[in-house]
Amino acid sequence: MNSEYRIGLGYDIHRTAPGRPLVLANVRIDHPQGLVGHSDADVVLHALIDALTGAAGLPDVGELFPNTDPAYRDIDSAVLLARTMAELAKTPWTIGNVDVVLIAEAPRLSAHKPALRRRLAALLNIPVDNVNLKGKTNEQMDAIGQQKAIACYCVVLLRRP
Ligand code: MG
Repeated sequence: MNSEYRIGLGYDIHRTAPGRPLVLANVRIDHPQGLVGHSDADVVLHALIDALTGAAGLPDVGELFPNTDPAYRDIDSAVLLARTMAELAKTPWTIGNVDVVLIAEAPRLSAHKPALRRRLAALLNIPVDNVNLKGKTNEQMDAIGQQKAIACYCVVLLRRP
């Protein structure tokens, strides 16, 4: 493909459970419920990894890091993102910008947004201006709205210098 830009879309959702740590965009958030998963269940980083790999034409997060592999049990998803960045570095593509929609009925995300943006920018090694994150609720509807799950969408623009 000869285009100079590619976009990628990622999505993920994890169930909530009491007593689990809540880690969003590699930031530990104090909250009575965390997310259930084989890894640390960081729904933001999983959506981000799928957006990056989708844009770059790489295998998706489940293929790169199978949840049947004991090596990934409770793993810090920032490690998975770093491995994804290493794969991306083998391609001609660099990251332009990232936009995230994080859907959680609780906790309220507004107070955490600056920290999440800063951490994402640091992990991706891009300016914080190139990372945006919106917190949404599902208006008390469905599983997310009932605080049974947290979901995330992410789009990434890659460019070829
Ligand atoms: Mg996941």
